[in-house]
Amino acid sequence: MTAKQILIVEDERPIREMIAFGLRRSGFDVREAPDAGSARASVADRRPDLVLIDWMLPDMSGLELTRALKRDKETQEVPIIMLTARAEEQDKVMGLEGGADDYVTKPFSARELLARIKAVMRRRAPQLADDVVEIAGLRIDPAAHQVAAGDKPIDLWTTELRLLHFFMTHPGRVFSRARLLDEVWGEHVFVEERTVDVHIRRLRQALEPTGHKDLLETVRGVGYCFRRDLPVEVPRMPSFMRPLPVRAKPEIRHAYMSPSAFRPVRVICAD
Ligand code: CA
Repeated sequence: MTAKQILIVEDERPIREMIAFGLRRSGFDVREAPDAGSARASVADRRPDLVLIDWMLPDMSGLELTRALKRDKETQEVPIIMLTARAEEQDKVMGLEGGADDYVTKPFSARELLARIKAVMRRRAPQLADDVVEIAGLRIDPAAHQVAAGDKPIDLWTTELRLLHFFMTHPGRVFSRARLLDEVWGEHVFVEERTVDVHIRRLRQALEPTGHKDLLETVRGVGYCFRRDLPVEVPRMPSFMRPLPVRAKPEIRHAYMSPSAFRPVRVICAD
């Protein structure tokens, strides 16, 4: 998967650079902002996968910035971790109520911060985590770029792989084509919604040989949904359970199925 992008909003340069250094070394794509104003400009330019916000900023408090990002429809889903020198319970509660997903108190170790980031990503945005996911025997390993059904590998192109990973980390939810474009292709990519259908078709073709094609459902007029289980085929009702042909015997005026519908037909004769 592509490197996850983290925005660090912190006015104290040595601290910001130290955090950035540690995160870059852990494989993140890091951007830095010294104040709330440049943080908002950076977010508008490209939505990050997670934001670290210091409590004390020169132009606006970190708490206000957190609230502003959580109010904005474009950024409300972006996970936020607050960094602060304050360790008081009241501040922690305010931070979390303001919309922060977690809270790290300074001084913290690079390892602790990394663990918190990973935990928040796993909880808030499972498609950003590199965990192996398995549904109905279909297994995706995002770190290794591998998909398999049992021991049978399934070859996918990058886009189909990302699409499948997004679906498998959000089973049972219906997504519009526009939302899938945002989540899988990225917000500022201008592609037609029809493109989604093309990739869905390819993904289904790839999943067909192992019988996993039907996990990907089309929800008419809405979009697509990835099922938690393969659909169970409902057997046809055997012929002896079907209603009797009423016209066959003139003396039978009424014939109907018993309410349980699985019992043989009960026949009532009129006379
Ligand atoms: Ca500060």
